[in-house]
Parts: sequence; structure tokens; C-alpha cells
Amino acid sequence: MNSWSKAVEVINKARSISIFTHYDADGDALGSAFALAIELKRLGKETCVFLDEEMQKKLVFLSSKGIDTVVYEVGMETRRFDLSIAVDSGDMKRLGKRAELFKSAAVTMKIDHHISKDDFGDYNFVDTKWAATCVAIWELLTELVGEISDEAAIRIYTGIYTDTGGFKHSNTDERVHLITAKILSKLGDLSYISRIFQEKSKGMIKLYNIAVSKMEFFFNERVVYAYLAKEDFEKAGAIMEDSEGLATYLREIEGVDTSVFIRQGDKEDELKASLRSNEIVDVAEIAASFNGGGHKRAAGFTYYGDEQSMKKMLLERLGRTLNDT
Ligand code: 5GP
Ligand code: MN
Repeated sequence: MNSWSKAVEVINKARSISIFTHYDADGDALGSAFALAIELKRLGKETCVFLDEEMQKKLVFLSSKGIDTVVYEVGMETRRFDLSIAVDSGDMKRLGKRAELFKSAAVTMKIDHHISKDDFGDYNFVDTKWAATCVAIWELLTELVGEISDEAAIRIYTGIYTDTGGFKHSNTDERVHLITAKILSKLGDLSYISRIFQEKSKGMIKLYNIAVSKMEFFFNERVVYAYLAKEDFEKAGAIMEDSEGLATYLREIEGVDTSVFIRQGDKEDELKASLRSNEIVDVAEIAASFNGGGHKRAAGFTYYGDEQSMKKMLLERLGRTLNDT
């Protein structure tokens, strides 16, 4: 029995399957969800992808006309599903408004690659060694359908591309290259995918500029910290998603191990933190101490309160970790 036989068995038994990503769905979450939905539909399953909010404009190409996609609101009428599958979501909180809907299916499944103690599915397929959830989806679909369709393959390629930072992060391993080599040999030139993610709006460049002008260094310049308030976004003519990649950009500064990027959230007092590190600090651990999570080299959390007290606490924790190493 290989590691995917149980998942294949559970999926084969279900006639209707709902699929869930984490809120603020990224390339890996949407790539996983739609690759899975496309292949499940090909198998004759009734499927629906449930999201917490509209997709980011540049990620809409990962959705598919043939797949029912619903931006869920609490109280919305839906049918009951035989099976629900959550992809790329470390803990139940990441399902946001859709947690109850996920649980309402007869059987639930989680497929994920984040560090987490919350195995919230009836069946859990979790491995932090998968560079992206799309790696797991590729392996599962290979067992389930054999030859993966071009439509699903392109979505898997995109999820792997985004979660490895374009094949640059430390999670870029042999398996990443083996899977994407297979996809490239089938589909040819996929450089348009990297163009989609490399392209920056003017607002984004202006926002980066403000962040750079406000950045501060701590602990012998091994930590860089930048905070952007709503006014900064307005000044730059930028939208929320324009701050994506900023933490990764700051991590590239010579001598820096850990970058911290904080932005004001939509709700009153809400702060969203993105943490990145090169090789010393385990940022998943730091994020977990603020009830967030993620990976060793990329993690995040949401904090409710004022920026100065959060910053003080966060820097204390980072200082302790750096002193211990
Ligand atoms: P980002 O900084 O790009 O928002 O997130 C980096 C990584 O941390 C991603 O893998 C993301 O899933 C994870 N992450 C970000 N925020 C949270 C959070 O509040 N809770 C958990 N569990 N993971 C998070
Ligand atoms: Mn992921």
C-alpha cells in the first residue's frame, strides 16, 4: 500500500466533493484547489471550490470556467457534500468563515505542508517536506488518474513556482525539479508564469520605496523591520496585495537573516505580520508564539493591538533566538 492509497480510496467512495483553500488564497492554495477540482470533475465527481474572498486579479487564471467556485458567506445555502478537502491550510482557523461548512461534510480531509499540531481532518495527509501543497496534489493525482491533464498540470506548476519563490527558496528540492521537468516536457515554455509573478504595478514599486525608506535594523543588522500603515498604501496608490513579496525582498539585504514586514489590516487594530529568514531564525516558531504559523523560512501571524507593543515583543523574541545561536 503506498501513502496515497487511503486518500484515493476515500475520494473514490465520494460522489460530491467540496474543496477549501486558506483565506487570502495564494498561488499554491488556488493551484492545488483547482488542479484537484479539474481532475475530480474529469472522474465524474460533483465538485465545488469554496473561497473566503474574491481571488486576487493576477491569480484568477488559476480558476476554471468549468469548476463551480463560490465566495462563501456565513448562512449561505449549500448542498451537503460526501467529502470536503482542505488544501494548504495548516490549521482550522485558516479556513476563516468556511470552517463550519468544511466540517458539515460526511467525511473531511486535510492535505497540507505547514508545520502544525492541528490535524483537523478525519484523514490528514501532511508533510512539511513537500515544497508546496501542489507537490502533494501532483502525487495524489498521479495515483488517482494516472496521466494528469494539461489544465491541472499548469496549476500545479504555478503553485510550486510561487511557493518556491520561482525555484529559489530553500524548499526547492529534487522532487520540485522532477515534477516541474515532467510538466515542462509536456507543456513547453512556461515563462509567462514567471512574468505574471515578476510584474509589478507602479503602486507596488512606490510602496516598496516607502517601506525601504522606513526600514529599521536591529541586532547587528541581522534583523530588518518595516511597517506600512493604511496611509502608506494610499500615498503609493497601492492595494493590499501590492505588499506581497516585500518581506522576501527585505530578506535579500546583505547580512540580514530575518526580515519582518508588518502591515495594517482591514479591521480596527489588526496587524498582519510576514516573517522571512535565510538560515538562522526558525520563523514558524516565532509566528506560532503569536498564534500564527507557516514554515521555518516563511511564516506569518495576525496581531490585534498597537504596533509599538507588538514590535517590542517580537524584537525581544527575535533577540533571544539570535543570542541562543
Ligand atoms: P505570508 O507572509 O506570505 O502571508 O505567509 C507566509 C507563510 O506563513 C505562508 O505559508 C502562510 O500560509 C503562513 N501564514 C501566514 N499567516 C499565517 C497565520 O496567521 N497563521 C498560520 N498558521 N500561518 C500563516
Ligand atoms: Mn503552500
